[in-house]
Amino acid sequence: MRILKTPANTYLFLISAIGSLSFAFLLKLPESTQMDLIMILALAGSILLLNYYTILIPPKGNSLSMDSSIYLASLFMYGLDTTLLVLFIYSIIFFISQRRIAWWKHLFNFAVYSLMIICAYYSFIFTNGSTGPIRLNNIFPYLISFCTYFGLNLLLVGIYFIIAATVSIINYFKEIVKETIATYFSTLVLSLVLVILMKPDELFGLSLFTCIAFLLSLAFKQHFNLFKEVTEKANKDYLTGLNNHGYFKEILAKLVKDAQDDDGSLSVAILDIDDFKKYNDLYGHIQGDHLLQEFGALLQTEADKANYIVARYGGEEFAIAMPNTDRNKAYSFMNELRKKANDTYYSGVERLPYGCFSFSCGIAECEKETYSISELLNKADQAMYAGKNQGKNLVQIYNANSEYTVHHSLFLEKELEEAEYQLKIFLSKDVYTYRHSKRVYQYAVDFSRMLNLSIHERKTLILGALVHDIGKIEIPREILTKKGKLDPHEWEMMKKHVTFGKEIISTNKKLEDLIPLVELHHERYDGKGYPYGLAGKSIPKLARILCLIDSFDAMTTERPYQKTKTFQEAIVELRECSGKQFDPQFIELFIEMIKQWDNSEEEIEKKLVPVNS
Ligand code: GH3
Ligand code: MG
Ligand code: MG
Repeated sequence: MRILKTPANTYLFLISAIGSLSFAFLLKLPESTQMDLIMILALAGSILLLNYYTILIPPKGNSLSMDSSIYLASLFMYGLDTTLLVLFIYSIIFFISQRRIAWWKHLFNFAVYSLMIICAYYSFIFTNGSTGPIRLNNIFPYLISFCTYFGLNLLLVGIYFIIAATVSIINYFKEIVKETIATYFSTLVLSLVLVILMKPDELFGLSLFTCIAFLLSLAFKQHFNLFKEVTEKANKDYLTGLNNHGYFKEILAKLVKDAQDDDGSLSVAILDIDDFKKYNDLYGHIQGDHLLQEFGALLQTEADKANYIVARYGGEEFAIAMPNTDRNKAYSFMNELRKKANDTYYSGVERLPYGCFSFSCGIAECEKETYSISELLNKADQAMYAGKNQGKNLVQIYNANSEYTVHHSLFLEKELEEAEYQLKIFLSKDVYTYRHSKRVYQYAVDFSRMLNLSIHERKTLILGALVHDIGKIEIPREILTKKGKLDPHEWEMMKKHVTFGKEIISTNKKLEDLIPLVELHHERYDGKGYPYGLAGKSIPKLARILCLIDSFDAMTTERPYQKTKTFQEAIVELRECSGKQFDPQFIELFIEMIKQWDNSEEEIEKKLVPVNS
């Protein structure tokens, strides 16, 4: 039979058969008077009502129906036949009124209740219980009967869940027993109360009981809704309606544990809106709040599509937890989101430095050895700041080999701050140069670790990389941002940026070591460069290195007048120009560094994706 194909179906079939057969075998129609019949219908009616008005139990909203109090009271008062008849009448009415529920579920439910009632009755009788009004010497049989009733309920339903493999045995018993034991117990007390209430007048007692149960259900519902509202408020950010920082960490901790237990993948992204302070300064905090709300809504929509969890992490920072997602998939998702955000118009963003809304994002993937969520978040945060450092509007994957914090270790902080300050002038004039300088700086940070340089040389190379194009400040805006090839006159003008740069740097005594880098980074190894046409070792070593890094970035990022080279194409070009434009001794080491960023070529290409692609 098709129905018996799985163990769960076989189980359902078996219990349904045993329950229904026991019912049919044991049911003897009582010799009823009209009053008995009214009572049976009233009991079935109460069960129907109480099945609808259940008691909701926080935190998950599991519902407990008080119908069991009525079955037990009926058993204690009238015995088996009447109770089975009540169950039968109730089940027929329920089946007719709830036809959307599959018939086999109705049948299974009926069978389980039949078995519970039958076993509860016989354990009552075997422990010398006697039916009728409440008696003190019946206390032990009441208790045994009650335990049988609920024990069987837990067992029969639990076995189904366990066979269907939706829960583990331990979890099932831990959760159900913990959450419902008190409420189950109150069912026994209530059933005894019902027996007492029914003593003077059965129908009146039952009505009174049903009324109380109904009111209790309403009160519990209100209480549960209040609980839901309060928990939601505690977990949500008031402005954007997204999850808040604390709740996000709670969820993330669970996700990390799941991923580590099941060997699954999990990535986390932290994103920070670029230049949000400027937006606030331009339009005020209220409009700033609006922007946060609108961007929050975009994040929520996109995250929902992929089943990710998003939160407002701080002021203008957001976080996304991505279950079942490795770092590469997370990168693609976030980069798409970044482009979408760039293309979405929010009021006033045209006055931001990039002329559009943008954010920087860091991604970290959870690994087996990830010790805590703080470690994971910290890595994503570091990668995000690396993105900011390379010119913003970027997604960065955390890379343990990259020395994001090199400026701390080299005591460069102060100097970098000053150089950055000068560089920021480019933000309003020529964003490309700003971003290019930031990237070249990052290459210098990485490459200087591989070269055998002194601390002083490293410092000089890194700072020089950051400010090498500073002279372009003096170049007219039309030439700098011209879309298309420069004509000879414009080209001559452009070449002067190295000399202008030298003049600017010379005004600051502290930066005098950077002069050769700024002035000579366009000299070529074969002597065909500018401004002096120096050749070979007569070009200072650091300027030769900078020339290589600078050219590599120019090749691999987008410019209005030049096609972007892929990683492979750029490597070919570097080797081709070895000994011509570049000093051969650095070429292979540099290529090795690029390859070391990641073993996969795809990854490297991603790192080099042009900022506004
Ligand atoms: P960067 O690109 O480096 O991230 O620059 P930024 O200006 O975005 O970052 P910075 O940390 O300098 O400034 C963040 C600003 O975000 C400062 C603060 O006024 C603003 N901010 C934080 N929370 C809120 C908020 O709830 N509402 C509004 N309107 N502004 C906020
Ligand atoms: Mg910030
Ligand atoms: Mg910011």
